[in-house]
Amino acid sequence: MLDSGPLVFLLSSILTNSSPKRADTSWDPSSFVVEALEGHTRFHDLDLEHSLLRGVASLGFEYCSPIQAKILPHTLQGHDAIGKAQTGTGKTAAFLITIFNDLLCHPVEGERFLAEPRAVIIAPTRELVMQIAADAQDLGKYTGLNTVTLIGGADYQKQLSKVQSRVVDLVVATPGRLIDFMQRRDLFLDRVETLVLDEADRMLDMGFIPQVKRIVRATPRKEDRQTLLFSATFTQDILNLARQWTFDPVTVEIEPERVATATVDQRVYLVTSHERLKVLLKILRGPDAVSTIVFANRRDQVRSLYEKLRKGGISCGILSGEITQAKRTRTLADFKSGKIKVLVATDVAGRGIHVDGVSHVVNYNLPEDPEDYVHRIGRTGRAGATGISISFASEDDAFLLPDIETLLGERLKCVPPPQELLD
Ligand code: AMP
Repeated sequence: MLDSGPLVFLLSSILTNSSPKRADTSWDPSSFVVEALEGHTRFHDLDLEHSLLRGVASLGFEYCSPIQAKILPHTLQGHDAIGKAQTGTGKTAAFLITIFNDLLCHPVEGERFLAEPRAVIIAPTRELVMQIAADAQDLGKYTGLNTVTLIGGADYQKQLSKVQSRVVDLVVATPGRLIDFMQRRDLFLDRVETLVLDEADRMLDMGFIPQVKRIVRATPRKEDRQTLLFSATFTQDILNLARQWTFDPVTVEIEPERVATATVDQRVYLVTSHERLKVLLKILRGPDAVSTIVFANRRDQVRSLYEKLRKGGISCGILSGEITQAKRTRTLADFKSGKIKVLVATDVAGRGIHVDGVSHVVNYNLPEDPEDYVHRIGRTGRAGATGISISFASEDDAFLLPDIETLLGERLKCVPPPQELLD
């Protein structure tokens, strides 16, 4: 494959029109009315390119979230940034707006070639990549920019044909599949202007750093590209990597406990091992649980729980690494549309679930990593809504609570489940 690459590239390097589709002039930015509010940044205040501002308006975003307000004034000027932020803070829109605004305001003069993206976003899981790409589609829908998603577990040829059919502006990818494309010389990163590394801590935990290093090396040197790195935690390892990869960055920190838990009513029920399933079924059959994600720690637990819930008459879907990508995508779509009301997920698969309107998160087991607790409950209480998280603690795993409380900076009151859930 390697030696046929340059030939394929030469053949496919048709000269192409470099500029994005002309911005739509049928929209008048003055129709997007948002009152100026002290202490808040409006998207109007950021001097965004109009087709991008139109995308922002169509999503109903009015004021910047805290991370957007802090980071965008720097990144829109082309500066590098390191952001400490969890999902749910609006970080995705922060880096997408940065990329799109830059691409629109600085169109490439002259010819462009296929398979040479101007921006690349790397994220650790397929779900997260797909979520970022969906957000890119929404935000960028009036820009004419072309985003391509590269993920493992999905058809390589299909992804390749997308790369070869039209000039690519933005690639959103998991590290492994991006390396495959680079190795086969189906994609070239030497023209990358902006590189985003999302959930860097998770990429480190999942052992992706050697791959990410290769990707970073394939892009222009750090002085010649813009690099944005996001991580939920700033360990020494992450800070070292951030230092290597960024040039004179601004650092922005959004405290996780405020964002993650402010809108979530957290309950911890002390249950015996044999009460768990019964209580869960009661919760899921209750009128309030309109859209629930149930987390368990391991794939086999997720599978067995899913089967028990099905037997109990609950219409549910399963989201874990053992399920094919196509099936996961369908399940997530069914959950988003309300066709299924319950998802059973592992932590890794659950990271990519960004669905507004999740009413409940249930931790069937407490997670071993306290960070996972914050991620799990952050699936609810999103976009200004309030949510309920219910964690089951038993004699087997209650010892995990103190570390979670330390991370949250608050005590979690453990109570027996209400009687109606036990009857
Ligand atoms: P994220 O942290 O990127 O997962 O984003 C969390 C959620 O907030 C997503 O559903 C976004 O669509 C939404 N969001 C992002 N920025 C804003 C904003 N400025 N105003 C309202 N919602 C937003």
